[in-house]
Amino acid sequence: MRPNTVPSSRLIIIGGGIVGLATAIKLGRRLPNAQITVLEKEAEVCQHQSGHNSGVLHAGLYYKPGSTKARLAVSGIQEMVTFCRENGVPHEICGKLVVAVDETELARLNGLHERGRQNGLEGLQLLNREQMKEIEPNVGGVAALRVPQEGIVDYHKVCEVLRQKISERGGRVVTRAKVIRLQLLPNGWLVESTAGDFQSDFLVNCAGLHCDRIGELAGQKREVRIVPFRGEYYKIKPPRQHLVRNLIYPVPDPQFPFLGVHFTRLIHGGIEAGPNAVLAFAREGYRKTDFNAADLFDALTFPGLWRFLAHHKRMSWEELKRSFSKQLFCESLQRLVPEICRDDLEPGGAGVRAQAMSPDGTLVQDFCFQQSPKALHVLNAPSPAATASLAIGEEIARMVAGRL
Ligand SMILES: Cc1cc2nc3c(=O)[nH]c(=O)nc-3n(C[C@H](O)[C@H](O)[C@H](O)COP(=O)(O)OP(=O)(O)OC[C@H]3O[C@@H](n4cnc5c(N)ncnc54)[C@H](O)[C@@H]3O)c2cc1C
Repeated sequence: MRPNTVPSSRLIIIGGGIVGLATAIKLGRRLPNAQITVLEKEAEVCQHQSGHNSGVLHAGLYYKPGSTKARLAVSGIQEMVTFCRENGVPHEICGKLVVAVDETELARLNGLHERGRQNGLEGLQLLNREQMKEIEPNVGGVAALRVPQEGIVDYHKVCEVLRQKISERGGRVVTRAKVIRLQLLPNGWLVESTAGDFQSDFLVNCAGLHCDRIGELAGQKREVRIVPFRGEYYKIKPPRQHLVRNLIYPVPDPQFPFLGVHFTRLIHGGIEAGPNAVLAFAREGYRKTDFNAADLFDALTFPGLWRFLAHHKRMSWEELKRSFSKQLFCESLQRLVPEICRDDLEPGGAGVRAQAMSPDGTLVQDFCFQQSPKALHVLNAPSPAATASLAIGEEIARMVAGRL
């Protein structure tokens, strides 16, 4: 990377999640003279997806070879692990098992193995029943793929360190600054926010669940729409936590970018089970009863959502039922760990995924960056964007530096 010596440009990043913060760091390194400001609408950074996720370091197993997601996931985990090591962020490379619950899933498990190898993952191991039980004694199923380089991390702490580094390098993170209007003037942007007005030569939109709306404020047509999918978790009660040692995942349905309910050991202790994937009635709706009229109107008037529902009736209905039925949720978990029972589960938290959907109802699988005059919009940064955030930030910084 060659630092650019363009005289002090003013750059504004909208969104203080992990992608916005990592982008600020990477832009600061590439453009040392730039004045960098992150605008975040909440009172603190990391309040939405970045602070409501599974805390897993994903290595790039699942993603289509050659996609931006595969490339940035593979380089991203290495960079994230180095970052954690150098900055004292709690993390652990504990490895993961992806479990085929019966013979019908073996072909897909082998496919994942091949895909992981194509993406450059080393040390992947296909395990038979006995071998997988040596790693996770309580796991069910017939075979597993072990991914040794995956792990768990404290993403809140990652964000805290990123924020601190932005300030140390002369950047600003302004909280309680909800961007409400954007005007492109001849000399750059006038950014109106609830914390006052800001001027900027270039904008980077990292607004997560609201990125399509920020794009629209910046004059972009909202072709893809963010559709919120809530992911709900249960926690395993302490006396039964011994049933899971580390990370146990199912073989995912290749049609969806969601991985299926799984078991995750948390970096500060405890085991979580989930998340499911239910359509949410509010983009920041963490409870089943949360409802936002504007978000719901937005979703219901988007033809893509209706096409998605028509195409995936059964899956959407099953997910909804499982969201309301602890028994059904437990049955999904029993496929991975047969001994787990309803009484072992207590309610956990939830997160909402910002998933971009096309007007034809397909879910956008890859990371999506869109350029517009004096702006760059991150329009799809779902999992594993937390793991890959530093690599995403580097990618954005490269694209922005080339345009200043
Ligand atoms: C349930 C769940 C589990 C996941 N598990 C994992 C995992 O284990 N590993 C992994 O790598 N990834 C995981 N992910 C994905 C990962 O969390 C996200 O991809 C990542 O956090 C996206 O970061 P972001 O900065 O783009 O979005 P966010 O963290 O949502 O940040 C966007 C920010 O923009 C702000 N904003 C929005 N509108 C405005 C506005 N008008 N003005 C100012 N600010 C605004 C928001 O307040 C928010 O802080 C998971 C996600 C979910 C939901």
